[in-house]
Formats: sequence, C-alpha cells, structure tokens
Amino acid sequence: MGKIIDGKAVAKQLVSEIAKEVEAFSKDFRVPHLAVIIAGDDPASRVYVKSKVRASEKCGIDVDLVKFPADIKESELFQKLDELNNDNSIDGILVQLPLPSQLDSKKVIERISPYKDVDGFHPYNLGKILEGDPLFVPCTPLGIIELLKRYNVKTTGKKAVVVGRSVIVGKPIAMLLANKSKNGNATVTICHSKTAGIKKILSEADIIVCAAGKAKMINGDMVKPGVIIIDVGINRIKDETVKRGYRLVGDVDFESVSPKASLITPVPGGVGPMTVAMLMKNTLKAARLKYKNKG
Ligand code: NDP
Repeated sequence: MGKIIDGKAVAKQLVSEIAKEVEAFSKDFRVPHLAVIIAGDDPASRVYVKSKVRASEKCGIDVDLVKFPADIKESELFQKLDELNNDNSIDGILVQLPLPSQLDSKKVIERISPYKDVDGFHPYNLGKILEGDPLFVPCTPLGIIELLKRYNVKTTGKKAVVVGRSVIVGKPIAMLLANKSKNGNATVTICHSKTAGIKKILSEADIIVCAAGKAKMINGDMVKPGVIIIDVGINRIKDETVKRGYRLVGDVDFESVSPKASLITPVPGGVGPMTVAMLMKNTLKAARLKYKNKG
C-alpha cells in the first residue's frame, strides 16, 4: 500500500503557519484584506465561499463578502471591481465562479487588477507561469506543488503526465512541472479527451496528476509500480449506504492504484483542502507585494 498524502493535515499546518505570518505582517503593516464577490445563489458556490471566509478568519485575514443578485448587470459588477481595484485597503479580490449566464467570466476576470488576482486566473498571471516567473498561481496547482514539496517529491528528470487541460488546473500544473525550477524540471505530457493511447502514456509515468472529472478513470492496471498519484478529480457517485445518497470519489480508482503507488492523494482529503489554504497564501502575498513596492 502506497503512502497516503494527507492534504487535510498539510492544509491545517499551512493555515497555522500562515496565521503566524499574518500576525507578524499585521504588526508591521496592517491586516491583509480579501474581498470575495458572489453573484447569485448557487448552493455549491455558497459552500465554497463559506469555507474561504472561515479560512480567512482562522488566518487573521479581514474578509469582505460582496453579494450580488443573480441578475446583476456587467456594468454594475465592473463598477464594483474598479472600486476594489482602486481601494488601497483591499489586497486580494476573488470572484466566485461560475457566474450567472449573462456575465462573461473571462471579461470579469480580466477586469481584476493582476496584482490583486489571488485566484491567479487573470491572463497576466497565467502568462507569468508560462514565462517561468509566476506571480499568482491558481490555488489548486499551487496546492499540488506545495504537497509535492512537503512530501519531498523530486520532480527533476521525472516523467509527469497531466490528464486535463483546463485553464484552472491542467495547463498551469503542467507548465509548473515543466518549468525550469526546483519543483519543476519534469518532462511533461498533457492528455485530454482526444488523446490517443492514453493507457501507454500513463503506464510510463513517474508522476500522474489527474484532473479530468471522470470517476475512477485510472485503475491499477494502467500505472507502473512506484508511481506518484495526485488525484484532483471530485466526482459524485451513487451510494445508498450513506444518508446523502452519494459519495465523493476521485479520477483514480484508489483501491486498485494505491497498492502500486509510492504516494497517493485520497479523495476527499488530498488536493481539495489545499486549495483554500493556498488562497490564504496568495492573499498574504498580495498584501506583501503592496508594501514591498512601497519599501
Ligand atoms: P474541466 O472539465 O475544465 O477539464 C477537464 C479536462 O479533462 C479537459 O481538458 C478534458 O478534455 C479532460 N478529460 C475529460 N475526460 C477525459 C478522458 N476520459 N480522458 C482524458 N482526458 C479527459 O475540469 P477542471 O479542470 O475544472 O476540473 C477537473 C476535475 O478536478 C473536476 O472533477 C473538478 O471537480 C476537480 N477540481 C478539484 C479541485 C480541488 O480543489 N480539488 C479544484 C478544481 C477542480 P477536453 O479538453 O478534450 O475536453
């Protein structure tokens, strides 16, 4: 049985480390300040926003929750974003996705100042990753790199396979692993739904990051002994034995893969808890950035 990467424990540890750093920063300058915008009443978004607010409170970060109705106009949202961009007391701005359908999320994200873009989705920040000089990295890929660091995974010269090419997970993590850096230097293959011969590609991987959103798409027969597995996928499958009628599984069949893996993230409790912790890290970074520039 492979060793389990305990994302929950690492995230907890990180939050307490960040809280100490925030305390010191607040003494020297002021309390870091995050603005979270939510439009509409999507139940999943409400849960995510709640966990972000809770984590901010644990870290000692001030958080403003800005709520808009589902029928908010683009101009109103832009006005608020401009206000927050120009407000010196705000360090980080996050717009909870998905947005109501009348809004173009790409345009909305581009309206956020890249220096306050703590979600790391602004094209400027995505470009900085490509350049090999990241500023704000999206929280999930950043959390994956942090887990690899904390479990002492050496990526240099390794064959890494990333399944998924989304802008928020697949592409940035692939680029970070390929970049010329201590936690990069891997030889990376990106797979997607049109990839031919994915089984062979997976069977040669030293590290697999799977972010496809397809329950149990990778099983034990597809991976080599000693592989390191980072399972990003969160999928609901029916389970009548539990009260809510479903349970969460990853993209990797944990039962058949874990005996072959040297390290593996479980779902839940692996990558998931890291995402919010990294948002806190990015918010502190945004606050520091402001004061660094002012000396
Ligand atoms: P997207 O749906 O945006 O992207 C999924 C990617 O997987 C696409 O590139 C798609 O290919 C590829 N894909 C789908 N099916 C297959 C297949 N059978 N074989 C190979 N590639 C495939 O998803 P996200 O990147 O946003 O999220 C991925 C998963 O990670 C989801 O389950 C999501 O819930 C989870 N997630 C978890 C987070 C966490 O904190 N733990 C944070 C963010 C996401 P193509 O491009 O060709 O369509």
